[in-house]
Amino acid sequence: MMIRSIPVLFLALASIAFPADLKPGEAIFGSAHHTEYVPGELPLVISAPHGGALKPESITTRTYGVRDADANTQDLARRIAEEIRKKTGRQMDLIISHLHRSKLDPNREIKEAAQGDSVAEKVWAEYHAFIDQALTAAVARHGRAFLIDLHGQAHKDIRVELGYMHSAADYAQPEATLNGQAFAAKGTLKLITDLHSDVPYTDILTGLQSLGALIEERGFPATPSPRMPVPSEPYFRGGYTVFRHVKAERNIAGLQIEANRIRLRDTPENRQRFAESLVSALQVYLPKWMNLEIK
Ligand SMILES: [Zn+2]
Repeated sequence: MMIRSIPVLFLALASIAFPADLKPGEAIFGSAHHTEYVPGELPLVISAPHGGALKPESITTRTYGVRDADANTQDLARRIAEEIRKKTGRQMDLIISHLHRSKLDPNREIKEAAQGDSVAEKVWAEYHAFIDQALTAAVARHGRAFLIDLHGQAHKDIRVELGYMHSAADYAQPEATLNGQAFAAKGTLKLITDLHSDVPYTDILTGLQSLGALIEERGFPATPSPRMPVPSEPYFRGGYTVFRHVKAERNIAGLQIEANRIRLRDTPENRQRFAESLVSALQVYLPKWMNLEIK
């Protein structure tokens, strides 16, 4: 993999200027290599905000909010991309934060994310500019794009949590409410409901071809899913990144995936097994719901 840096001059500007010759698989980096963007050629983008390890002294340590890293999520994101490359010969877009979460939390608005540190604020802006660039390019290539913001959680119930910006209490509402337009409009699958206006939203969220169902079929418990349509709490509903970047009017759908540690993130073998399972699930899900091919 070739490594190039974006000229520092460009990063000083409010909007980042990207090299004109971005090539699939050739990583570019933000200032001080704190962020990494691997451009792709597919309609799928994965961001990994909490897998970084760097704790530079030049950035003030954050004093409030969650400061623990999501162990092994950077490795998991790279394995998913590598699995796609093995199966298709193609590169997918990856955006990675290399800073430890005690220095920057890219999945928060800038105030809580950087807590006033100007270096961290710049890295935060670069990270989100990379996601924006990846999604804009993917939509230009394919008409639509799908974003997965990849995380790790350690909740007691061992399952993958799929965050569509609906809370556990939201899912407990009557079916008529869940299938009303107002509810879908608040979620990250709004674009899919636009593409399938004849299908109840509950089928998309928790039906037999929902992402939760497809992941469970491949051996990883997941929620929401047909088995657990209302997530038990605690449950992560999704955060800043999907809220900011996933917009039906920009032809983007997606979700936040919170991978459990035990039997998934804990060993290289389990991470590989999940990477293969998720790619296999997406190869059913994206053609079915987004009319997008991963091939
Ligand atoms: Zn996280």
